[in-house]
Amino acid sequence: MSDVIGLTRTLLKFDTVNPPGRERDCARHAGAMLEEWGFKVDYHEYADSRTSLVARIGGNGKRAPLCLTGHFDVVPLGTRKWAHDPFAGESHGDKLYGRGSSDMKAGVAAILLAARNTASKLSGTPGIVVVLTAAEEGGGLGSKNLAQTQLLGKAGAIVVGEPTSNQPFVGHKGSLKFHAIFRGVSAHGSMPELGENAVYKAARAVAKLEAFDFKAKRHPLMGGPTLNVGTFEGGSGVNLVPDAAKIGVDIRTVPGVDHRMVMKKMKRILGKAEVDVFSDLPPVWTEPDDEWMQRVFEICGPVLGKKPRPRTATYMTDAANLLKVYAGAPTVVLGPGEPQMAHQTDEYCSMERIRQAVAIYEALIADWCK
Ligand SMILES: [Zn+2]
Repeated sequence: MSDVIGLTRTLLKFDTVNPPGRERDCARHAGAMLEEWGFKVDYHEYADSRTSLVARIGGNGKRAPLCLTGHFDVVPLGTRKWAHDPFAGESHGDKLYGRGSSDMKAGVAAILLAARNTASKLSGTPGIVVVLTAAEEGGGLGSKNLAQTQLLGKAGAIVVGEPTSNQPFVGHKGSLKFHAIFRGVSAHGSMPELGENAVYKAARAVAKLEAFDFKAKRHPLMGGPTLNVGTFEGGSGVNLVPDAAKIGVDIRTVPGVDHRMVMKKMKRILGKAEVDVFSDLPPVWTEPDDEWMQRVFEICGPVLGKKPRPRTATYMTDAANLLKVYAGAPTVVLGPGEPQMAHQTDEYCSMERIRQAVAIYEALIADWCK
């Protein structure tokens, strides 16, 4: 395990496909290494085998540490056949294949190696806190639960190692997801006048949702908020008046959009439907001219060959939960994975980018702790 490619391969071999997740073995393996390098490691399991870890080193009480974060879990393999073993860490040329290579075991490996390489220089400095989570995919449950404990402590800035091809992304949209259940009264299909059709109620609401206007100002990098009705279920037989219908709605928000206001407007459209909000995470955004973000851009420039331009991610990250504790911390999403490879069959990561990421993380740590 002396190099970052070997470490990425080791992490790929742990089956952390979520569901069911089973991050424990992978987390314990990473935690044992961190302890060996001098870190104080705490584990947290919000459910059996769903293990996250928080590891810290250094700290001087003057400035909060720098947080580097990633997740252990990976998405399922999908239905298409893989040409490469998803758990073996096969490589061809510069490509390292495997489920989670880009999203984001390469990022986790780069964080770990940068932590190892800098550990001996961090005593008496602000130090770093490494947060590696379970259950990021499908809702950020691991970080959500972690944020409710005291384990996270403080952090003054956050680096999220999700796939960006090592480009610094200055934020991502927020997410607001809910189910709404419409109730009706069942009757025989030949006498619909005796019933109350729940599918019609849901359909009328869906038509209004399609036409919904957020009346939000466009964000310069993220654009506007969006709304998508992703599921529609209703009725149990063609000869029955349906007494229930359920829709699933996915709203992606940008800075300046107040989630509570949006839900108020939703409830006006949904009427008496029962609403269950199962995900409510604000957007993550740091002004590109923030002082630390400028440092990030300066540090990435020479490694990437040219000064990057500010951009944002399309996906969610754990940062939305971590910022509940690390409130106000400038946050960059920056990792070696290829964003377009995430969740794909034959997912791969460029090995050159993984090595680059180690160099960038080390430089960010040195800069924060100088
Ligand atoms: Zn990810």
